[in-house]
Amino acid sequence: MDIISRAEWGARPPEHRDTVPWSKRTVFMGHYSAASATQTPREIQDYHMRVKGWSDIGYNFLINSITGDLFEGRGWTTLGAHCAGHNTEAIGVCVIGTDKAGRQDVSDAARRAFKWLYEEANDRKGRKLTLLGHRDRGATKCPGDEIYTWLKAGLPIVGGTPTPKPPAAGKPAPGTPIAFPLPSGWYFGPASGPDYSVSGRHERYFKGRTDRAWLREWATQLSRRGWSVGKGRTWLDQHGNDGVYGPEYRALAIAFQKDQDLRQDGLIGVNTWNAAFRNPVR
Ligand SMILES: [Zn+2]
Repeated sequence: MDIISRAEWGARPPEHRDTVPWSKRTVFMGHYSAASATQTPREIQDYHMRVKGWSDIGYNFLINSITGDLFEGRGWTTLGAHCAGHNTEAIGVCVIGTDKAGRQDVSDAARRAFKWLYEEANDRKGRKLTLLGHRDRGATKCPGDEIYTWLKAGLPIVGGTPTPKPPAAGKPAPGTPIAFPLPSGWYFGPASGPDYSVSGRHERYFKGRTDRAWLREWATQLSRRGWSVGKGRTWLDQHGNDGVYGPEYRALAIAFQKDQDLRQDGLIGVNTWNAAFRNPVR
């Protein structure tokens, strides 16, 4: 598994750092960010440095709860700032995301990354570190019930290894296929992107309809496929299917891309569009 380095995610340099030798490391501690899974390590670092006034991002490592991307924070042997009074012995690992009752917020990919990192830590230490959640050493709900229960169960991974889904099994895609409405190479993506990243912010027209109407069409097709989409539902629950691309559409696109074994970039280009209208529902 790859650890995405500080340079790769664009970390600011730390203001200072203190080293902890491996001989003093005895605990591997799970945290969660209790915020959107679309938060980047850089956003968390900015918050820790600018708002909290810390010397660097607080955690030693971070894992995205949807994609399972694993990010270097302060790393193995730099003193963290994640659990007051316990940063010397504990390596702090933050799962980026939230904990909503009644649904699985931490993907199998994220669980595998967490477990891999724990085993890597044990290898480096030369014996098993004690697995704890933040709430074991502080008055906090962190890391949320879902992760805490999983930690206490010893990080079981269902099925052990990822099982590839059988191709082309299942019901045919519902509804009438709609052709990708944007020019070749364009996609629905953030407003901060290039011209060919269509966000719906500016209400541009493509093939006689607005970009918002087209993006709504894609999400509506996902609800025909059985996805719980809309205000107060599992996906797009804050803003609903308003056709304006933001973190909620990105999270939905990533989940759907994962389901379809597509590249998980959160952008809705021709492949992600066509998969919704043409691939069987499995
Ligand atoms: Zn915590």
